[in-house]
Amino acid sequence: MTFAPLRDIVIVGGGTAGWMAAALFSHILGPGGHRIHLVESEEIGTVGVGEATIPPIAIFNRALGLDENDFLRQTQGTIKLAIEFVDWLRPGHRYLHSFGAFSRSLGLGHFQDFWLRAHRLGMTDDWEPYILNSVAARRGRFIQPDPRRQSPLEPLAHAFHIDAGLYARYLRRFAEQRGVRRTEGKIVRTVLRAHDGFVDAVEMADGTRIAGDLFIDCSGFRGLLIEQALNTGFEDWTHWLPCDRAWAVPSAHDGSAAALTPYTRSTARPAGWQWRIPLQHRTGNGYVYSSRHVSDDEAAATLMANLDGEALAEPRQLRFTAGRRRRFWNRNVVAVGLASGFMEPLESTSIHLVQSAISRLITLLPNHSLANGGVDPAVADEFNRASAIEYERIRDFIILHYAATERADSPFWRACRDRPVPEELARRMRVFRALGRVARDHDELFSEVSWLHVFLGQGVWPRDHHPLADQLSEEDLHCFLDDIKAAVAREVDAMPTHADFIAHHCKAD
Ligand code: FAD
Repeated sequence: MTFAPLRDIVIVGGGTAGWMAAALFSHILGPGGHRIHLVESEEIGTVGVGEATIPPIAIFNRALGLDENDFLRQTQGTIKLAIEFVDWLRPGHRYLHSFGAFSRSLGLGHFQDFWLRAHRLGMTDDWEPYILNSVAARRGRFIQPDPRRQSPLEPLAHAFHIDAGLYARYLRRFAEQRGVRRTEGKIVRTVLRAHDGFVDAVEMADGTRIAGDLFIDCSGFRGLLIEQALNTGFEDWTHWLPCDRAWAVPSAHDGSAAALTPYTRSTARPAGWQWRIPLQHRTGNGYVYSSRHVSDDEAAATLMANLDGEALAEPRQLRFTAGRRRRFWNRNVVAVGLASGFMEPLESTSIHLVQSAISRLITLLPNHSLANGGVDPAVADEFNRASAIEYERIRDFIILHYAATERADSPFWRACRDRPVPEELARRMRVFRALGRVARDHDELFSEVSWLHVFLGQGVWPRDHHPLADQLSEEDLHCFLDDIKAAVAREVDAMPTHADFIAHHCKAD
């Protein structure tokens, strides 16, 4: 037996998470009669970082009908084809985790099987020249995918570097045009229903109450509803991911092709790692570190000594704990964004987790409450199950970067190397070493190719290649790889530079 329609959705928080939720809900649910109300406080502000994304964000933007070049213009955005990991395996070493698939396969097996065999035979020692995204990234080239393109190679796969504050502003205009109501001000109290502890309303400083059927907690690390009101609990992953602080600072660049690299750079530092993210108008930088292994002052000094250009502000500190809420959906509150948990931005996954949480919520959205005014626990359980798996798979992928290091030059890196990893990751590493196969589930965020880049980049090598790769003679293998390398070089030769692409198609005013 059903009770009342669930139509009033209250979003608490107007950071990237809040406005992404408001934009998608108003676009998809608004026409069906849902009323969406967002509350945010300028006085409290937003976290103010979050600049690198991964390719699925293009699906989100397309779902909203946003034009990609306009999005880049509005967010001072640039293109991201890969992440470069510098000094992660050992000082002096660098590799790319490039997006996208490898060249189309021969039908016999996967590209990596052939490459691994060629490597064993001494024909090649680097696989970047065979990967379109990697070569385009290294040479600073980019072209938007053209459906008419004919090529044996998979097209470039891209994401973006964006000013997340501008993105939130852009989505706010979009959402407000579609009827989202916004209330500015500080929530001072959460009103719970006496009979079941569901949230009835949030109360503003002036006493106004905003009531709803479903509350989306996008209030950031504080978790205003999910934690402060509902005491959901937090699963702490510091023992696997010990970094707990970051300094962030913007720096100037000259807009040259060399400055506008179409990739994020992550450089290992004595107690963590430093990001470099080029936007159109500035470069974002930050040092993510473990406060048990370096002092705040020393970490700030390390960051400031390693900027490409002049700092545009004083560095700002952020504190966090790796982990997740014990329940993402508790009673009638769904936590999204930093309110739901946090993993360091090594693989730029936070904004993606916002996207997947709100997509999942739309898929699982109940139409009516139960007779007692509650939500069927089966729905929340399914949301929590899928979200927990997603979090854990991403966590393991991030841990892999640390666990497979050869670095032993500081207490932080020695601890990373010696720390046990989650059993699921240990299993994947064993399978890869044995067979060169990535034992992952099909619906995971990071593809087989992503895992391969990081396994090989971090020095986790298989003992043997797949037998299918032996079906080519050595001469044919040579020709096969040379053909791919030549095709990659030809395609990249024909691409404009990334800086020219920005200048001609999406330069911000
Ligand atoms: P916030 O931005 O903190 O927003 C919280 C909102 O809640 C604000 O509007 C605030 O006003 C409101 N609020 C809170 N309390 C109240 C109250 N009492 N009353 C009214 N309103 C209230 N992600 C990526 O994808 N890529 C990256 O490269 C990346 N880098 C990061 C680097 C660091 C160091 C950190 C810490 C995070 C990074 N992230 C990154 C994560 C990313 O910044 C966040 O996931 C994203 O910005 C979403 O934040 P949010 O909206 O959940 O929270």
